Amino acid sequence: MSAATQLLKQHLQQRQLQGVTHIPLRAEALEKLSGLGRKPAIREMPEAPKPIAVESALEVRRILDNPPPETKKAGLIEVAGASIEEKLAALRAMAETWEPALALNSLRKTMVFAVGDPHARLMFVGEAPGAEEEKLREPFVGPAGQKLTAIIKAMGLDRPQVYISNICKFRPAMDNQGSANRKPTAEEMKACLPFVLTEIDLIKPQVIVALGATAAEGLGIPGSVGGLRGRFHSTSGIPTMVTYHPSYLLREEKMGDGIHAKRQVWEDMLKVMEKLGLPISEKQRGYFKAK
Ligand code: URA
Repeated sequence: MSAATQLLKQHLQQRQLQGVTHIPLRAEALEKLSGLGRKPAIREMPEAPKPIAVESALEVRRILDNPPPETKKAGLIEVAGASIEEKLAALRAMAETWEPALALNSLRKTMVFAVGDPHARLMFVGEAPGAEEEKLREPFVGPAGQKLTAIIKAMGLDRPQVYISNICKFRPAMDNQGSANRKPTAEEMKACLPFVLTEIDLIKPQVIVALGATAAEGLGIPGSVGGLRGRFHSTSGIPTMVTYHPSYLLREEKMGDGIHAKRQVWEDMLKVMEKLGLPISEKQRGYFKAK
């Protein structure tokens, strides 16, 4: 069974559990799905073929990369109508064994997807999971993650209120890796890019924060953080702030000069809060001012 058919089957089963009794489907697709069990959930679509319901960048990519026979006949599968949560779950399941990424043989095999509120107004995008993230299968849970959580808190938000993801869904591999991490290459990011773009399509956050130059590059915003930060760029039409990666803040802190970079990140976050219409107290405005 092709990946597309598997995804459709999974989707139909979810709809069935929700009590949906009829989903229009072409005969060819029906044939492919034999084995689904209870047939009343699906029926043949009597009218002329409709255009393919393309729901996401990933779906486009999937159809282009590996057109299932039924798409060639045009018309086919209605996957619209599922909730954001269902679509994210389907996306996560697809990412687990995403061939274009795993075929590179330079990424580890444990997939780390994303965390947070699928209806969040604010989305943070990092580069790739590290050792801690791989262990817990959640982005930004190591030292850099604790720094990010503190930034989110300083903004008056809780971590579960935002959505946190990475461009690359697998930890980049190295010889004698131990707990060492490395940045993903452009090729590794490109292989995973359909996922984060689809997450953005689905979640439609009001603001995206790209953490570091690598994440910004992955989103199609090339340059140095110094040159990019402090103003909004665009990802699929969504205002995107580029700021320093929390790991950079940690490194600067270790060198004994963290305050400058921290102040810059905080200025960027104040702009994000303004864009989101979040309340900003005098205390928040004044962080780092007197220091
Ligand atoms: N750095 C990232 O860019 N992402 C993570 O998930 C953790 C560290």
